[in-house]
Amino acid sequence: MSKEKPGFSTICVHGGERLDPEGGIHVPLYNHSTFGFPSTQALVDVVEGRKAGNLYTRFGHNPTIKAVERKLALLEGGETAYVFGSGMAAESATFLAHCRTGDHIVCIGDVYGGTFELLANNLPNLGIETTFLLGEELGRLGAAITPRTRIVFFETPTNPGMEILDIAAIAQTARAAGALTVVDNTFASPVNQNPLHLGADIVIHSTTKYLGGHSDLTGGAVIGSKALLEPVWAWRKNLGQIMAPEVAHLLARSLRTLSVRVRQQNENALAVAQFLATHRKVIRVNYPGLPEATGYQIARRQMRGFGGMVSFVYDGDAAATARMVDRLELFTIAVSLGGTESLITQPVLVTHHGMAPEERARRGIVDGMVRLSCGLEDIGDLLADLQAALDG
Ligand SMILES: *Cc1c(COP(=O)(O)O)cnc(C)c1O
Repeated sequence: MSKEKPGFSTICVHGGERLDPEGGIHVPLYNHSTFGFPSTQALVDVVEGRKAGNLYTRFGHNPTIKAVERKLALLEGGETAYVFGSGMAAESATFLAHCRTGDHIVCIGDVYGGTFELLANNLPNLGIETTFLLGEELGRLGAAITPRTRIVFFETPTNPGMEILDIAAIAQTARAAGALTVVDNTFASPVNQNPLHLGADIVIHSTTKYLGGHSDLTGGAVIGSKALLEPVWAWRKNLGQIMAPEVAHLLARSLRTLSVRVRQQNENALAVAQFLATHRKVIRVNYPGLPEATGYQIARRQMRGFGGMVSFVYDGDAAATARMVDRLELFTIAVSLGGTESLITQPVLVTHHGMAPEERARRGIVDGMVRLSCGLEDIGDLLADLQAALDG
């Protein structure tokens, strides 16, 4: 790319791509686990770090993997990106790389269930403790950070409440206390938000969601400076968490359409949220793009679009809500998000099933809450489906 600073869609298509020596129009799939050298000396030069070269795919030395990593780094405005076999692999490597026994993490707001389990159940076995703050307890962040706090972690928008956290303000507090700010940007996607530009140190993605975008791959990514990512690379290598080259190739193909997909999902979600807000069976709509949403002003500052995720509260108990969900025909009942097809889940029955009822109540996750991942269907069809299900 000759232009100094290409636009986002141009990066989606061309970013990180290099001309294939055979003239292939994009980076081919190198499915190889290992690569040959012309001489022992040439191999030793790579082993000893004197020359760059492809040694072994688990190390990340694979042209297909490196190409998608270059594209992801450009999309998030980071120096380096590393891809993983899943979003949870990306998160665990990041925590292990930057925390050791006795260290401390602060986790703000609602986070993905797997992340919550990792922080609450697994990392304490290694002597790494986490303090959990609700989004509305942000005033206590300064007091929650201790001299052993290495990471302040959060998602925004949050799941399933679609709360907005102020990335720049949190990053400033964390930095002043000597902690890293790590943001899971899965829900927003880099189309709508770049946490690194707002002061975050590391961005994590489950590429299973919007980046993959077709519900046909599982992967993760960590993006940030070379220095902060170096230990993450070492953990990935020795825990064996690399993304398969076949998945990297599929992910690169998906990223070429990322901006058009997500812009349309933003548009569909806004229309869905506006429709739901007018329906008599809907008690509350959570979408950061509605002017009445608590996080609207911050969202307008830090996001370019408001995302494809919407949640709402149906006027009914868990069973009545499940009956409404079952009446939908276009929205598929499934966990996950970010694909071309619209999905629906009821958090109390599925994603937050394991959370204690008091904890759910504290977090506003009520029985009638429903979460939508808006896909790429015609908006008229999506609204008609919702209307019919809500009307009974
Ligand atoms: C799905 C998800 C994860 C976990 O990703 P996997 O690819 O399933 O391991 C982490 N964070 C968020 C916000 C997610 O939605």
